[in-house]
Amino acid sequence: MNIPKTMKAAVLFDLGDLRVVEVPVPEVGHGETLVKVASVAICGSDPGIIANGWKGYPVLGEFIPGHEFTGTVVRIAPDVVELQVGDRVAVEPHKGCGRCENCLRGYYTTCLNYGKAELGHRHYGFSSNGGYAEYAACHVNTLHKLPDNIDFEHGTMLTGAGTVLYGYERIGWVVPGETIVVTGPGAIGLMSAHLAKLMGAGRVILTGTREERLAVGRGLGSDITINAREENPVERVMELTHGIGADMIVECTGQPQPAAEALHMVRKDGRISYNGIYHESVTLQLDRVVQWNLKITGPKAEGMWNLSRAIPLMSDGRINLRSLITHTFSLDDINEAFDTFTKRKGNAIKVIVKP
Ligand SMILES: [Zn+2]
Ligand SMILES: [Zn+2]
Repeated sequence: MNIPKTMKAAVLFDLGDLRVVEVPVPEVGHGETLVKVASVAICGSDPGIIANGWKGYPVLGEFIPGHEFTGTVVRIAPDVVELQVGDRVAVEPHKGCGRCENCLRGYYTTCLNYGKAELGHRHYGFSSNGGYAEYAACHVNTLHKLPDNIDFEHGTMLTGAGTVLYGYERIGWVVPGETIVVTGPGAIGLMSAHLAKLMGAGRVILTGTREERLAVGRGLGSDITINAREENPVERVMELTHGIGADMIVECTGQPQPAAEALHMVRKDGRISYNGIYHESVTLQLDRVVQWNLKITGPKAEGMWNLSRAIPLMSDGRINLRSLITHTFSLDDINEAFDTFTKRKGNAIKVIVKP
């Protein structure tokens, strides 16, 4: 295969200054493959990384963000036996060091050697170079083979789906017949609602403030939507559950008020998964957690190989997240892609960049 010496990549030169330039194609180290990147989805965390940086990220002028990506293996290190040149793959952003206590117990998304590249840790698009480039060096531990019927664009949704599944694993999955409330119809919330229904939820209730997003949620299997601008979500959920509360709340807004309200729409002995990105401290009535025998967890990214669980479900059509993909841009137009994503131009949900 003819691989050039240099490639186009979106490099962060200064905070907020992302530019497409020509850089060397990355070297392939032990256990790594070179992936020719086909599609990268912009994640809700990307604008913050670009504006504010990330703890332990590579130096400005070298750092390439982007972490929800798919592509084709075009080169493998001599010690790679798991994959071959030509394999189509989805990339998982986290590679634990493989030697700390958390990694050894399977919790590699909370690796104790986070950011220590010299100890083998990688977090593509965060603490190490990622996918807004023509090529990326990725360790085999992070690669999931894609069947031919998952195209590269749809495959970028697997990272989010893996995170949602990990959230459900942490909280004890969905028990068939349960009433699940998902708050916040962002990409993770919409995927959470879709997967809850797939796992046998009796009713999925989705709350949000934007009618067009709630409509997407109904298309993905939400049975009831509540527009929080028009109705009080707590009162409505309590009414729908005859004053008992929902079995599980999956909080995906990242906002203080819905995060606090989750404790008031869950049933006694219920569960709450906090999946949002919380920039502010939140005041919770913790007395409820004790007196109501609640279980609360949060998932750190697509842990415990959950991305792989989403692949057969997407392959046979049970996971279908195409309605989330609203825009596609070339790598040269990456700043326009970010502008579209952050300003939600044209009701943007997931925006894909194609190097
Ligand atoms: Zn992400
Ligand atoms: Zn580790």
